[in-house]
Amino acid sequence: MASNSEPKRSFSADPTMGLISNPQPVCPSCGREYHDAWELDLDDGEESEIQCARCDATFFVVAHISTTYSTSETPWGRR
Ligand SMILES: [Zn+2]
Repeated sequence: MASNSEPKRSFSADPTMGLISNPQPVCPSCGREYHDAWELDLDDGEESEIQCARCDATFFVVAHISTTYSTSETPWGRR
């Protein structure tokens, strides 16, 4: 059985801390928001460990990529 003092080695976030599904990654330690997350180049569900540029804490980030579609009618209608 894992003890509580064992360090987390993969993504594990408390859903009550506002760290889930944000528009940008948020440092769990100091709250810094990362608006340049595209630089991490993560695919959907991909996990990475990064170090906070403000407080030096390391934390896990998981990307949630959603695909959306737009449509518009053609001038020629049905074919
Ligand atoms: Zn930080």
